[in-house]
Amino acid sequence: MEAAREVAPLVIVPLGSCEQHGRGMALQTDTVRAVELAKLVAERMAPRAVIAPETTVGLSEHHMGFPGTLTLSPETLQQVIYEIVHSLHRHGWRKVFLLNGHGGNNAVVDIASIRIRADFPDMHLASSGISALVPDVISQEGVSELRGHSCEVETSQALYLAPDLVRTESLVSGTHRRSDLDPAGRLSRMHPAIHFPQPYHRLDPNGALGDATVASAEFGERQVKAALDRLTSFLEQFIALPLPSSPSAPATPHSV
Ligand SMILES: [Zn+2]
Repeated sequence: MEAAREVAPLVIVPLGSCEQHGRGMALQTDTVRAVELAKLVAERMAPRAVIAPETTVGLSEHHMGFPGTLTLSPETLQQVIYEIVHSLHRHGWRKVFLLNGHGGNNAVVDIASIRIRADFPDMHLASSGISALVPDVISQEGVSELRGHSCEVETSQALYLAPDLVRTESLVSGTHRRSDLDPAGRLSRMHPAIHFPQPYHRLDPNGALGDATVASAEFGERQVKAALDRLTSFLEQFIALPLPSSPSAPATPHSV
């Protein structure tokens, strides 16, 4: 591993989940999408990036209405991420990227990152989701008003990255209009800046939003290729950055 560290200063850590993805996709969909995209990034940057083992269970409390879903507590997931990065730091890596395949992990990724930046000010740590890299590519497609989980966006990514995740004949259209939700669900989607999350079993009987029946590998390819370009462009500059001169004040995750 010492040789790997010398040629590969960047580590990508894929973060996943084990949660219901409606009737047509596998429990490990988020994990596999993150791993497969990480492989494409590492291939393009070869030999300068390595991939750490993926986390296969995330924070999925909002999907626990569906058997098969596993969840860690926010505290546990935060500690897992922290200790993976700490281990990498102990072995000399100073550039780490968390590639998160599951939006439900976002808040925990932010908090873990704040702790890591405070405790290891001599390293650079960054993170992103997958769909969040390409909102323009997604909105060009005329996608459903309600989407974001097991929808045409995610199913298309899976069809391109790992088609074995998808049982095409079992895909059904999920709740895809805000007006189809119950009153709490409608209110939860009133404004993107207002957080009023609802468990998925209250949003759709199968736990899937959007319309997975119109998903295609071609739409997935357009999303993944754009995400790959943007991620690689960032990471090329990330890898070239000088290390921070410590001690530094911990960065805050959001501007105000
Ligand atoms: Zn997912």
